[in-house]
Amino acid sequence: MSVLNHGFVPAADALIFPEICMLCHADLSAASGLCSCCEERMEPLPTERCAGCGGRLDTVVELCRECLPMKRPWELAVSCYGFHGAAREAVLRFKYSGDTALASLLGAVMAENWQAYGHAKAEAVTAVPLHWFKELRRGFNQSQLLAEHVGCHLDLPAPKLLRRTRWTRSQAGLNLARRRRNLRRAFAAGNGVTVPEHVILVDDVLTTGSTLAACTRALRKAGALQVSVLSVARG
Ligand SMILES: [Zn+2]
Ligand SMILES: [Zn+2]
Repeated sequence: MSVLNHGFVPAADALIFPEICMLCHADLSAASGLCSCCEERMEPLPTERCAGCGGRLDTVVELCRECLPMKRPWELAVSCYGFHGAAREAVLRFKYSGDTALASLLGAVMAENWQAYGHAKAEAVTAVPLHWFKELRRGFNQSQLLAEHVGCHLDLPAPKLLRRTRWTRSQAGLNLARRRRNLRRAFAAGNGVTVPEHVILVDDVLTTGSTLAACTRALRKAGALQVSVLSVARG
């Protein structure tokens, strides 16, 4: 069942949406989040998905062509959309505006995708941390907001387990090896934090997966036995 297509409203955390479309601002007859036109443009990923990145499967085995030659450090990845069209608009708008209604909508879709595709055990949902200065400037951590909504829907806690240990330059424009070097020892478990054995790690977009891989390694180093990754979109 899809949040977008069937008006699914979880009992414990009713979605409170404005009566305008969150993307194109068209008037809506009911507070459903998106108008039917934007809903259609959201394009969920097909049901045949890569276990390595959560994206579209383009081979006859369980991993896509990009994931086949590499070893992802997490157990399983689940994503909801390709990073284009209205899904991309929604992620970017949410990331740069902190629109909490969009966080609620995207978090609900993520939880629903986890229930459909994420078969791993989980005791907590946690987010990729922002550097404190970036969070201060933006005013919020978009991944933390998503993690909190996902946790609410899955009835799991969403503690802040990770912290950035240093400032890192933007990953944009770096190749895979340089991305990895850029993130070396950039994340660690927070001081005094107890990391559960099974964790869902949340981020807005999985592109190369370098950041999520660095966070997964930090969680494992701090005691996690199984880390799964959940993102809104596979870039
Ligand atoms: Zn719309
Ligand atoms: Zn893949």
